[in-house]
Amino acid sequence: MLNTNGVPEKKLVLSKFPDRELLLKPKAITECYEDIPCNPCATSCPFDAIYIGEDINTQPVVDFEKCTGCGICVYNCPGLAIFTVQELDSTNARFKIPFELRPLPEKGETWSGVNRAGEIITEVLIEKVSLKATHDKTALVQVLVPVEYINYFITIRRQI
Ligand code: SF4
Ligand code: SF4
Repeated sequence: MLNTNGVPEKKLVLSKFPDRELLLKPKAITECYEDIPCNPCATSCPFDAIYIGEDINTQPVVDFEKCTGCGICVYNCPGLAIFTVQELDSTNARFKIPFELRPLPEKGETWSGVNRAGEIITEVLIEKVSLKATHDKTALVQVLVPVEYINYFITIRRQI
């Protein structure tokens, strides 16, 4: 439960996802569950696809028709609360996640896939790592994840 252990229940997580057919193209998922004064996600989106409105405490809402899955909001969110996801085929989903730990993963490596409770659930392939000056030290890591974990995967952990 979000309010007791910080882990959002599945119903809450699913409330942030669009219908599955929309995920055939990459879309941003904002896991921002508190009313906080924050809006870089909305101001950084070049496609005006995230709406917060006049009250900055309002939780962001993604217009999935406008969202291209570019990933710009992912590294602009100070709470690391956004990722993008695309259902590639019946086998794999592609995520772009924010990552601030060091050392960074490298393309081609296999890392562990972790769920919202911090548990390892699968293995994932690192496809790409992007870190530009405009990212303010938040890397954008592109990861290939088995599609059955599309609603469970949230981050990566180096295998030891
Ligand atoms: S992924 Fe790109 S288009 Fe979609 S909401 Fe984020 S910044 Fe906007
Ligand atoms: S930038 Fe991140 S933390 Fe701030 S409102 Fe947007 S999703 Fe929430």
